This record gives sequence, C-alpha cells and structure tokens, in this order.
Amino acid sequence: MENLTRIVLAYPILEGAFKSGIATVDTLAGGPPSVDLATVMPGAKSAIVFAVALDQGPIPDYLGKKDRLSYEREYNKVNSIASGIGVKLANNMSQRGFPAVPLAANDVYRDDTPMGRFDMCPPISLRYLAVASGVVSFGWSGNVIDEEHGACLILGGVVTSAELLPTEPLIQEDNYCDECRICSGVCASGLMSPKEMTHVSLGGRTFSYAARRTYMRCQYVCGGNAGLHRSGKWSTWSPARFLIPDEDEAFLPLMMAAGSLYGRRPEGEGGRYHSMMDDKLYTTCGNCQIVCVPDKDERKRRYKLLAEGGVVVQNEDGSLDVVSPEKVEERLAAMPPEHRALYDGDLTSSEIPPEIQGQAPPYRKE
Ligand code: SF4
Ligand code: SF4
Repeated sequence: MENLTRIVLAYPILEGAFKSGIATVDTLAGGPPSVDLATVMPGAKSAIVFAVALDQGPIPDYLGKKDRLSYEREYNKVNSIASGIGVKLANNMSQRGFPAVPLAANDVYRDDTPMGRFDMCPPISLRYLAVASGVVSFGWSGNVIDEEHGACLILGGVVTSAELLPTEPLIQEDNYCDECRICSGVCASGLMSPKEMTHVSLGGRTFSYAARRTYMRCQYVCGGNAGLHRSGKWSTWSPARFLIPDEDEAFLPLMMAAGSLYGRRPEGEGGRYHSMMDDKLYTTCGNCQIVCVPDKDERKRRYKLLAEGGVVVQNEDGSLDVVSPEKVEERLAAMPPEHRALYDGDLTSSEIPPEIQGQAPPYRKE
C-alpha cells in the first residue's frame, strides 16, 4: 500500500493539480452523511482528493464588471480538468486491480434528500474530504482555502476500495483566514450566518466555519435568478434585480417565480448546460470564493472592484451592459415593459405560473 499510496498522491500533481491527499474511513469517522464513501462505492476504504488552481488572471476584470466570459471559461475548464484527472486516476487504479470510482468536481447531486437532486447535495463532500486529508483547510466562509491560491481552486477526487495510507489534516488555526468577512460582504444572497458557526467532526478532530442559511440563497443568486446587492450599488453578473429576502422561508416561492422568468430571457454569450436546466446557466457570482486570497490588501482591492463595478442590465438581443447605479433607473425605464419585467418587479406578489406550480426549482421545460 505504501507504493500505491505514493503513486496515487503523485498522479494528480503530474496531471495538473497543485496538492493531493488521502482520507480514509477512519479519518472521516464521525462526519456527516456526505463523507460516507459507501454512497458511491460499497466497501470503499479511502479516497484520494486533490486541488486544481484557478488562473486568477481573469478574476479582477470579472469582479470589476469588465469581462465576464474569460473567468467563466477558466472556471468551466478547471472543473473539467479536475473531473478529468479523477476519471484518469480511477481508470489507472482499476487497471492495476484496485477498484476505484471518480468524483465529479461539480454538478452531480444525490437523490436521497427531501427534494432529491434539487437540494443540490453532492454524493460525497469533496470539501470535507479535502479538509480531512490536509489538502486545504476551512476559511470562515466555509470555502476551503490554500496558503498560495486562497479559495481560488477546484477540488476533485477518487474513491477506492484500496486501503491507502491517510495524510494528516492541516491545523485550521494556522491558516491565513483572519475572519475579515469580505466573503460575506460580496455575497448578495446572505448565505453565511454572521453569528452562528457549524462544527464538523472528522476522525476525532473538529473543524468550524460560518453556519450557512438555506442553500437556496446561493442557488437563487449564484444561479442568476437575482443579483442586486441590497445596497442597490452593485450586482453580480446577473441582470435580475428581484428581492433577496431576509427570511429563509421566502426563497422557495421566489425561486419558482424567478425561475420561470429566467427561461424567458434572451440567450446570452457563453454559459453552460446544467443538468437541471434547459436554458444555459451563466457564471454570474462565485464572489465569496474568488475574493478570498491570502493577501488581505488584495482581498480589499477585489471587494472594491466589485462594489464600485456597477450593475448589469440585459439588452433584448441578450448582450449585457454595465451601468452605474445612478443611471440604472433611466435604462430600466427605457426598456419595453415586457422586457423589464424579466428582471425587475415584485415577485412576492406575482402569480406562480400554473405549469410550474408544485415543482421544485430549478425547472425543466418539458
Ligand atoms: S474572505 Fe476573509 S473571512 Fe472570508 S474566508 Fe477569506 S479570509 Fe476568511
Ligand atoms: S457563490 Fe455568490 S451567492 Fe453563493 S455564497 Fe458565494 S457569494 Fe453568495
């Protein structure tokens, strides 16, 4: 096992990851259901986890509303690389006689939760595996961070029945997170609880990060259904300006109403096809992740780029314009009312279209 452990740790690095580690049934013991390796492979004993860095070159212009596409392409590409390394490593191990299954970096969901895959819970939490194996540690945000790349990374992994040797977790208190909460400041959805913490026990060690309010907040905003910060001064790359409520309970009906309007918007450049949507999903947020880097001055600079970057409106041909918060009302007023209604209005009083009543969001057209 020492030799196999050596090979599987080196493999992801040679394929493009910057760090790798191993979590085992023992080092994950006591954790939540999302660390149960048997979910994806009965009899699994360990998992290889690795992190691939995002090129941070496009991030300032993405946050500053100068260029959305370059970062979206980078994000999609690195997710594909992380998933691809997993597939190649799993195949390599299986060919050697050690059964293994790859974990997708993103976009695969379990169906045994209350709303099934619409809850968007992954079969296995790569975050938890990566923390247990010392690849990364938790920042206050709950995103995982690295001393060089910050939170600008994508995780991948492989689950196997081989009894690999585990790697040690990092000491969370030693990481660069100083609880600056800039990650929360750039989140229009208010996902992170300002006061409560979540504590997770993995292999007898406890790890902590800010408790998350309903994940529907992130689905609603990061999914592009809304994006205007409550200050009205800046937005994500979403042109939708619908209410982002304080109460968690308010999100389901809002998502239903906003989701039906999403499908009627003109198609834009870029995007990708998500398994739960027939319309393209565009990268519009991810702010909490890409603002978090070890250099605090750079974190502040990124926050400023976002906060002073303006708000987004969509033209009838699908193109996006960035306008100052002072000028946006003028632009909205000049839109045909039926076009404006796709982005702006009081969804709390709108009728939920009959064809989507009773469905969980997001929606498929058929
Ligand atoms: S943005 Fe600040 S508080 Fe948030 S995870 Fe990064 S360092 Fe920690
Ligand atoms: S991705 Fe966007 S909406 Fe989701 S938690 Fe991060 S900042 Fe908030």
